[in-house]
This record gives sequence, structure tokens and C-alpha cells, in this order.
Amino acid sequence: MSTLGIYVQVPFCQTKCTYCNFHTGVVSPDRFAPYVQAVQREISSARMLFDASSIGHEHLFDLPVDTVYVGGGTPSLLDAPLLGELLDTIRGNFQYDWREVTLEADPETIEPDKARQWVASGINRISFGSQSLVDDELKAAGRMHRAADIYKAVPILRDAGIHNISFDLIAGLPKQTHASWRHSLGETIALRPEHVSVYMMEIDEGSRLGLEVLNGGPRYSARELPSDDAMTEFYQLAQQELKAAGYEQYEISNWAKPGFASRHNLKYWRRERYLGFGAGAHSFSGTQRWANVHDAAAYVAAIRSGKAAMGSVESVTTEAALEEELFLGLRQIAGIDLSRVQREYGVDLQEKVGRLASRGMVEQHGDTLRLAPDRLQVSNEVLVELLR
Ligand code: SF4
Repeated sequence: MSTLGIYVQVPFCQTKCTYCNFHTGVVSPDRFAPYVQAVQREISSARMLFDASSIGHEHLFDLPVDTVYVGGGTPSLLDAPLLGELLDTIRGNFQYDWREVTLEADPETIEPDKARQWVASGINRISFGSQSLVDDELKAAGRMHRAADIYKAVPILRDAGIHNISFDLIAGLPKQTHASWRHSLGETIALRPEHVSVYMMEIDEGSRLGLEVLNGGPRYSARELPSDDAMTEFYQLAQQELKAAGYEQYEISNWAKPGFASRHNLKYWRRERYLGFGAGAHSFSGTQRWANVHDAAAYVAAIRSGKAAMGSVESVTTEAALEEELFLGLRQIAGIDLSRVQREYGVDLQEKVGRLASRGMVEQHGDTLRLAPDRLQVSNEVLVELLR
């Protein structure tokens, strides 16, 4: 049966990490409640806002919501009752059969009372912004927490009744070495989260660190970044250690204990439908994609005046849908179903697949095409070949 995912964006943080290229801001806590009220209003008037923006929503509101993801930013900064009200608004406006309700939480924001209230409001999964278990790296990256906060937070979450914790790690932080990366991986595994995400450091002009690197400067420990080769080795070490510890890799950046793959994120990779609320949130109806404006103040102002806060709406052409299928399929270890692609898009990729397989880039098992395990980092190269 088809289901719907709901994403809520909370674009506020306590500080700006040096590597952060997200649209998030540091604002006074006074702005949290008005923002959440705007999101609640956007949710409860969604049908009307979609109609006014020519968004086709036939059957969308009939689908039961089975996953909710509250991300950011640092949504765990919000008072727990505010988060509870937000989830109540979703319950009041959609059919629901909640299986997975995730909150992104940073270690230093986790307290016993808060965690108990999260569980009481329906949150059953925490995406935990650990990033590294090494204080020098956390400090250099401008993170608010230290390793001690991580060790303290995990038992708090367990005691509160959270049985599904996902750790985020970043490969390629300034000051990271083989030994420190091995330490972060080992400590993560010892804390027994059900899920681990490993993200590769991105250097671009969207972050302070990225700009410093591009300008050749020394600030933010920009000259102490590991090399590209070292990052590749970090990734490969993560693959080995996580596999040995019983985690199954199911996507380029994601590993899970059996049964704990993220249902919500799988919706993105499988091109299932989801609605996003809040500044900068993205939505996909199956035939259209749209996104709200990033600026939180502009978002709140638009919603308060009864208008949609969409910055872009586009219909997904067949060509774009095929590109998405291939791009997202290559990210997943389950791969791409070639016969379905042929059936739905009238495209026979066999000849190109044969060429890529002969170069060791991809593997084909029956109708399934997937990247070779040691080529997971070259998905873009393969995508370009398949679309050529
Ligand atoms: S906590 Fe996350 S979203 Fe906030 S500044 Fe740091 S990296 Fe960016």
C-alpha cells in the first residue's frame, strides 16, 4: 500500500559549524515558537495552499503517513512541548499509521526530561549528530559538543525508551587522521547504535571552511584537512568495520542493523511521495517537485499572510524521472531494476551496462544493476555513462 512521508525543517542552530553549507541560522530562541506556529499553519492549510499554487494533490491526503522526519538545523533545541504540538498538528490533518518518527538531535541538547517528552509525543528514532568522537576534531569544526556529551546522551535516550538511534559521522574533518578515524568508528560501534551514516566532507563556497580552503587560507584548520586519498581510505575502513560489526550497507552513506534501515530516507531514494513543511523544505507528489523559500523570516511572513511559501515548483518530465531513477538507484545497494526501467521508460540500458561491467564499474545480477562494491564513490561517473 502507498504511504506518505512528512518532513519538517527547523533551520535553527546554536552556532554555525565551520563546514556547514546548509541554510540554517543562529537566532534568538524567541523566534522558535512563531516559526513552529507557521509550520502548523502551513500543515493545516496545505490543501488550500497547494490549490493556490497549482500543485496536484489528488489522493495525496488519503495516504496514511507512516514516517515523519524532523530535521534541521538542530530541531532538538525546540522545547519538547512545541515539538509535541507540531506532531499533533500532523496527526490532526493526515491519516496516520506512524512507524518511524525521527528527530535530529545534537548531543549537547539531550536531557532526560526532554527525551522522555519526545518519546511521549511519538518520536521513536533519534538521528544523532555525533560527527566525531575526537574532541580536537569537534573543536576545529566549530561543533558545540564534545565526546563526553555523546557518552552521556546515549544512555539518556535508551532510558527514555528510544530503541532506534542513528549516528552521523563525517569522514574528512580537519585534523582527522587514520588513527582518530579508527577511534571514532570503534567508539561508535561500541555504543551500539542501530544505524550509522558516514558523510564525506564537502568543500565548497557554501561554508566558511570551504571558502578558506578555496582561498588558500589557514583559518578553521583549513590546512589540516585529510587528503582525498585518505578520505577514500576512511570510507573503505568504515565499510569493513561496520560490516564486521553486523551493519548492512544499504546506501552509499548508510548502514543499519537488520530491520533498521531508515524508512523515511528510503522514500527519497525510491522516489516515493513525501511532503515537506517549513523553510527550505522539499516535497514530491510523484509528478511534481516543489520547495519552500530558505529564508525563515520570509517563510513565516508568507504563511502568516495566508500565502504559500514556495520558491520553486516543477513538473517532473519523463526524462528527468529516468535520470532520478538511475541516480537514486545507483546510490542504493539494492541497485536498479533494469527490466522495470525498460518497461516504464522504454529504455534498454543493456549495451551501456555491458561496457561499464567490462571496466569493473558495475555488477549485473539478473535484472539488477548495481555499482561494484569498491566503486560506490564513483556513482556520478557511471550515471553520466548511462545517460549518454
Ligand atoms: S549543527 Fe548541523 S545544520 Fe547546524 S550549523 Fe552545524 S552542521 Fe550546520
